[in-house]
Amino acid sequence: MGSQEFRCKACDGYGLLMDDEEWRYTCTVCRGDGYVSELESNEQDQVSDVDDINRILD
Ligand SMILES: [Zn+2]
Repeated sequence: MGSQEFRCKACDGYGLLMDDEEWRYTCTVCRGDGYVSELESNEQDQVSDVDDINRILD
């Protein structure tokens, strides 16, 4: 739990997604949290994650 969290764009913060037949299922992007951490949103670019953290600590 920290300040580095952002509302999930996939489910708009609800943590649930609904398909065309109104079946609801847990959002796979935020795993149902409704929010994603900065690390999760950038998980495809982990090198820059380290750089971001270093900048914040600095
Ligand atoms: Zn989500």
